[in-house]
Amino acid sequence: MQLEGIHHITAITGDAARNVDFYTRVLGLRMVAKTVNQDDPSVYHLFYADEEGHAGADLTFFEYPHAVPGRAGAGMVHRIVSRVASRAALDFWEARLAGEGVATEREPERLLFADPEGLGHELALSDTPDAPLSAEHPEIPLEHALQGFLGVRAYSADPVQSAALLERVLGASALSGDTWELRGALRGGTIAYDPAPAEPGRQSAGTVHHIAWGTTVAEHPRWEEHLRASRVPTSGIIDRHYFHSIYFREPSGVLFEIADDAPGFTVDVPLERLGSEVILPPKLEPHREQIEARLTPLPDPRAGWPTPTAAPAP
Ligand code: ZN
Repeated sequence: MQLEGIHHITAITGDAARNVDFYTRVLGLRMVAKTVNQDDPSVYHLFYADEEGHAGADLTFFEYPHAVPGRAGAGMVHRIVSRVASRAALDFWEARLAGEGVATEREPERLLFADPEGLGHELALSDTPDAPLSAEHPEIPLEHALQGFLGVRAYSADPVQSAALLERVLGASALSGDTWELRGALRGGTIAYDPAPAEPGRQSAGTVHHIAWGTTVAEHPRWEEHLRASRVPTSGIIDRHYFHSIYFREPSGVLFEIADDAPGFTVDVPLERLGSEVILPPKLEPHREQIEARLTPLPDPRAGWPTPTAAPAP
């Protein structure tokens, strides 16, 4: 039983409109679902991913309207690392982000930047054999597009304390003294630890809330049994509508989740309409009018796209 790399990463935004603009228009991800927080339907839960909404490229945000800026500290993920195919892709992103007024830091094989709320990102060259997970965008050539997650970097004063859980319980392999990989049949993903800053973290806008590792529907309940047998306290299995989840905290403090691979985002709408409307859990559907009136209006990011022109008649 091996985990399939990173299934999704969930972070926090205080500004949903700016968040949608940055991740869809600037970074070229596809908004694959626009739903509401199950516990507070007055705020969004936004999902971005590749064209088909695959696990492995799914970045989600809880909306905390007007939240103060957060800060990553010990026990928190501070950087999301995404794959790109080539140095030419890094050049493309360096120029595109500069054109948007986003500061970047370039190294030969990676590009560092932050989103408008300070969430750290890295685009990295990758020699992984894993299938690329990219979205379509009229301004971004497919060969330069983001290709899904390579991994995350977190802060920990003592990564060794996380090693036992990662290696013995979750089946991770140590790639180096501070980096572990969880690799299944389809793909792999890494978590690396950096020394934590002295200042404590603050979970708020621009910080990562949790990261989820992927598994299959068949193996998901077995992970819950396995964690319980390994004496790891968990949330139990929770139905998250698009997938099922088990939450637990790793010893350095990062909130982990194990999520399965069904039913996925097309449970609500067909693939071509993903992200175009607010999705409500069935129990909230009768209250749609009141709920939509309280939500920040967010346009369909693809509404203004040029419509594909039919081939000219011969
Ligand atoms: Zn999650």
